[in-house]
Amino acid sequence: MITDPEALSRSIIEGHRRAIARAISKIENNDPDTRIILDTVYKHVGSTHRIGITGPPGVGKSTITSQMIKAFRKEGKKVGIIAVDPSSPFTGGAILGDRIRMQDAFTDPDVFIRSMATRGSLGGLARQAGEAADVLAASGKDIVILETVGVGQVELDIMDAADTIIVLTVPDMGDVIQGMKAGLMEIGDIFVVNKADLEGAERTKTDLQFVLELKGQSGDRKQNVILVDARKGQGMDILLKEIKEHRRFLEDQGLFEAKRRKRKIQRVKVLIGEHLDREFWNEKRVELLNSLVDDRSPYEIAEKILK
Ligand code: GDP
Repeated sequence: MITDPEALSRSIIEGHRRAIARAISKIENNDPDTRIILDTVYKHVGSTHRIGITGPPGVGKSTITSQMIKAFRKEGKKVGIIAVDPSSPFTGGAILGDRIRMQDAFTDPDVFIRSMATRGSLGGLARQAGEAADVLAASGKDIVILETVGVGQVELDIMDAADTIIVLTVPDMGDVIQGMKAGLMEIGDIFVVNKADLEGAERTKTDLQFVLELKGQSGDRKQNVILVDARKGQGMDILLKEIKEHRRFLEDQGLFEAKRRKRKIQRVKVLIGEHLDREFWNEKRVELLNSLVDDRSPYEIAEKILK
């Protein structure tokens, strides 16, 4: 087993899955080796297309992801998948089980599937998911899929690591628009109404299209709505075409690079924020904070501590 982070990094770049798995575990555990690994592999991240998939539980994210893996593999593309479930803090829950079952279906060495969950605090999860995507990109994957349950801010932050974001919904989820968190409407590049075999799919598509048009477009590109029956694989060809067209759009507009740059700046800010936070809250300051918590306002207490 390779333990030296430099040797591990070389092994990642050569695409060895055990090395990739070890590196992602280190990222999850905030292991200090992470930094050496990221420094080394970062030069190799290349132009992997990072695709985000999000939507409420049960809409068919896993099913669609499996179909996407098959479709991309048919084209000879290497695929990595990171499934993040912020709501299950201990990697427990169904998501991991599903993922392992999915992995069984893909003994293909050019497919790498991994779940990530929080180790305690949610704070670093989006950063960790982004770093895991970097590792997969550096290992030579052409496509990295980031999948997460779309329910809260952390999930939206995770989607920041994607170039193309697919938002999933299903027919008749009550009021589609209400069912969809406000943030999701804004971040989606492509909207999928999955389970097109169910009643009301066309209407849901029309409703969604209507709302997206009312809201005005994000950027210059129309946010298309696609009907998919992921179980049968129907509509997957259209989804794949949309994904590729979105990437082409990003490249033509210079947005592919711009997004990467913006993302890097954001990541640096997060790292510095995490560093300052750790440095600041030494034992003395924590004690001081505890001693000051009385009927004063939080502003007043903060000011005292900062002084
Ligand atoms: P996730 O929680 O979003 O990952 O959803 P899953 O992919 O686990 O799917 C939830 C359930 O919906 C499973 O029972 C799937 O078999 C089912 N499902 C997925 N796609 C379709 C579809 O296109 N039509 C129908 N009827 N069921 C689907």
